[in-house]
Amino acid sequence: MARFCTLCSSSGGNASYVGTAAEGVLIDAGWNNKQLLLGLENVGISPDSIKAIFITHEHKDHVSALKVFAGARNIPVYATGGTLSGLLNEGIINGKFPYEKIMPEGVTIGNMHISYFPTSHDAKESCGYKIELPDRSVGICTDTGKMTGEILRTLGSCDLVLLESNYDEQLLDFGPYPPYLKARIRSEIGHMSNPLCADTARELLSMGVRRFVLGHLSRENNHPERAFACTNSALKHMGAQRGVDYLLDVAPVGAMDKFITF
Ligand SMILES: [Zn+2]
Ligand SMILES: [Zn+2]
Repeated sequence: MARFCTLCSSSGGNASYVGTAAEGVLIDAGWNNKQLLLGLENVGISPDSIKAIFITHEHKDHVSALKVFAGARNIPVYATGGTLSGLLNEGIINGKFPYEKIMPEGVTIGNMHISYFPTSHDAKESCGYKIELPDRSVGICTDTGKMTGEILRTLGSCDLVLLESNYDEQLLDFGPYPPYLKARIRSEIGHMSNPLCADTARELLSMGVRRFVLGHLSRENNHPERAFACTNSALKHMGAQRGVDYLLDVAPVGAMDKFITF
């Protein structure tokens, strides 16, 4: 059996746990150390069972807890070369924990294999991850302004996918952000809108993915109900039934109160 939960998920902070009963990894370490520890405690997972942390990119909402969390336990950190250089520049990699560049063939940690795929985002070398456990696999895809064939192919073979549903187009249009920021979010190196998320989920369902968690919702430009409704109605339009043909959840801003087993 595999376990998945988000410890935080929004434009303010992102971290996900993927593992088995024995061990696991974190994808990103945003928000703060206390939030990550509370989130893990909430679901009954010991921080000592975390064997590695994989970082998608160097933006603050993905790394703000990294220095303290990884440093306190000497947890190895993996990322692309570009992301590592960003973390070094900002002093987040500070000699208190080991780090390594992830290679195209991925890395095996215990009985997990983790590989990455490029995303389209305004960071040095952003990526998403696929985590293969003994009998299940998980895809994590946030912070991408466009969906590519490579991302779809990778996620299409996963049992559970965490997919970004960052913004509602109307809320962004009429929201408080300045024009340059709105343009950045909408661009091909920005974030996934609710409709792009819905289109992606439709493709993935047709490829056999059955379990979706929507995440990285903007707190200013989205609502959980809007994100859910957009993807859910797209899947329903395919004739699929929630609870029968697919499972769909929206990750809370804070930690999930229990992990998903699948
Ligand atoms: Zn970002
Ligand atoms: Zn982000």
